[in-house]
Amino acid sequence: MATSAQTSVRLGLPVEQIPQVTQRRARQLQRLGIRTVSDLLRHLPARYEQEQAEGSILDLIIGAFGSARGEITSTRWIPAAARRRTGRFEATMEDESGLLHLLWFNSPYLCDQIHPGMVVRVQGKAKPHRGAPQMINPRWQRLDDQDQVEPAPERMRPVYPATEDLPSTVLERIVAELLPLVSDQLVDPLSEPFVRDRRMPPLADAYRHVHAPAEPKQALAARRRLAYNELLLVQLGIAMKRHYSRTVLRAPALTWNDAIDTHIRQRFGFELTRAQARVIRDMALDLQRNRPMNRLLQGDVGSGKTVVALYALLMAVADRRQGALMAPTELLAEQHDLSLRRMLEGSNVRFALVTASRGAAGSAKRAAVLDRIASGRADLVIGTQALLTESVRFRDLAVVVTDEQHRFGVWQRARFRSGDSSHQPATATERFCPHNLVMTATPIPRTLSLAVFGDLDISTIDELPPGRTPITTRVVGQDKADEVYRHLARCLDRGDQAYVVVPAIDASGTESAAQLKSVREHARLLQRQYCGDHHVATIHGQLKRQTRQGIMERFRGGDIRVLVATTVIEVGVDVPDATIMVVEHAERFGLAQLHQLRGRVGRGSDGRRSLCVFIAEATTDEAARRMKAIESTTDGFEIAEHDLKIRGMGEFFGTRQHGPTALRVARIPEDLDLLHMARRDADTIIDADPELQRPANRGLRQVLLRQYGETLGLVDVG
Ligand code: ADP
Ligand code: MG
Repeated sequence: MATSAQTSVRLGLPVEQIPQVTQRRARQLQRLGIRTVSDLLRHLPARYEQEQAEGSILDLIIGAFGSARGEITSTRWIPAAARRRTGRFEATMEDESGLLHLLWFNSPYLCDQIHPGMVVRVQGKAKPHRGAPQMINPRWQRLDDQDQVEPAPERMRPVYPATEDLPSTVLERIVAELLPLVSDQLVDPLSEPFVRDRRMPPLADAYRHVHAPAEPKQALAARRRLAYNELLLVQLGIAMKRHYSRTVLRAPALTWNDAIDTHIRQRFGFELTRAQARVIRDMALDLQRNRPMNRLLQGDVGSGKTVVALYALLMAVADRRQGALMAPTELLAEQHDLSLRRMLEGSNVRFALVTASRGAAGSAKRAAVLDRIASGRADLVIGTQALLTESVRFRDLAVVVTDEQHRFGVWQRARFRSGDSSHQPATATERFCPHNLVMTATPIPRTLSLAVFGDLDISTIDELPPGRTPITTRVVGQDKADEVYRHLARCLDRGDQAYVVVPAIDASGTESAAQLKSVREHARLLQRQYCGDHHVATIHGQLKRQTRQGIMERFRGGDIRVLVATTVIEVGVDVPDATIMVVEHAERFGLAQLHQLRGRVGRGSDGRRSLCVFIAEATTDEAARRMKAIESTTDGFEIAEHDLKIRGMGEFFGTRQHGPTALRVARIPEDLDLLHMARRDADTIIDADPELQRPANRGLRQVLLRQYGETLGLVDVG
């Protein structure tokens, strides 16, 4: 009979509410990222160990899991020196075939439970000990009547990713208890023939088999089914969004011809690289259509993404509409504002800059800027996330570019607001949406982008502008800092310019008071001890805009020779003459960040070599791997692949909740074949039934909405 406790276990039940799980265990589970029963079931064994069928002691294989039964022949408690409750409990067990040593640590209570003469069954890994097998901390069970307990059969024992206080055996027990209670809730959203066609087990079987397989093949098939399930659901979401965008969303079709092309190119002070030209052509084709472009432009740091963005923005302006460029930091927005103004000097293009510190909200100055945007008297609008606030309305926004998209955290299409007079869709069912270009220098490994951003078209600039000289990268210990700065001083004497970056102290990555203090102190130290007459200045996000711009201009002009900075300079900053980058405490930075920082140098085309020094004390294995990777290559794509390998997919996007949380079981690139299958299947399903309205697809629709609704927002196009 089912008790009330049993019937109340649902898949979505938070772990702290599971009757079978203590509060202490619930907290331990949460530390593993397991929040609900469903998470628990999708916390799969990392591997399996073969556990022998129960036999005699003589049959135990050293190094393998097994069980045996016999009579306890001796016991003793050996206390550790000073403390009484720590120590070890030793026993011997014998059957007709031989003797087995048993050892439990810190379990004085066993003195009252295990006695000579008792018959017990033990399960554990056999190790050699004084010529006989030994089990350490084995599971044990008293056998009052031997004949009533069947010998344990051979089996595959799951080994879960575990923590010190939450061992795999406990996870195994919890899963084994809960799985039968929820098995009737594991309704397969896919039909039996569909699943059979793909040689996969039904969903409920897959869960059972993956946690307690009868044989290796079964475990493998089960895991594949669960991985496929996840991938299919994400791909279905993507396919649904794509369908929606195709049928409902409308963007202005922009005019493009040779005259416009020539006109725009004239503005660039250089020939486009082949890669830039190719990307611009792809993009211009998109922009001529009345469906919103949804394109990701990836190109390594310094590859020249800005002109591609400018090209798109100018196509909007040429069509007498507006373009917007959004950057993750004020510093970068201001830089774009300056450099684009410079490039368009003497033209009729009207600019507007919107950042938080530019005219307080509600001020007359800000109101004037907003009015120019709303009335269409600003053609190119540049800004930070402030562009997304309610008060910013566009008259006729045609192209939106988001620079350094990865820095915004959420991979979500920015929603811009259009004014009443904006482009009106032709029919009531259509919705207006500007063309969208997102840019990043942190490439997403191709495989991963397919899995998670399947609705984005991807363009890649895979070539640097001519004349760049490679950057020399060095990773050195803290003890070499003095040497590094003395070398820096010599380079300054030769006319070089340098950045020195001091990392954020607090985990949030925002500039703390302590960090600002250390930036100032570091600058003072460099000025006093190393740099002599060369001007050292500091820059960080909390300076006034005017001050910050002044400093950047003086650095650009060569008056300031060393810029000691927080990570505000991490993205986008473009000063071609700067050739030296020193990063303090480099071990605290992520791989992508290190790559970005390094990308601030090596931007000149005058053949001067650039140097990047990471001062690091790699205290963790992961940090050591990061340092090795950054030293071994300057190729952003290779770095992205390293990053994916080192951090795993879940962490790849910086924070867990921004990553593809829908994928717990599936692994990219290992499950690539499943991904392709899922993508094909999803397209077929959505082509036939775009909104999953058919009865046969109702199960899928429900699961999609319930389990993945939020995550699918990541690929939201609407
Ligand atoms: P990123 O891709 O990192 O945003 P930028 O757009 O800032 O790179 O470009 C880096 C530098 O290269 C800039 O100084 C820019 O003017 C220059 N640049 C871009 N394209 C070319 C080109 N085709 N030829 C020469 N220099 C270029
Ligand atoms: Mg850039």
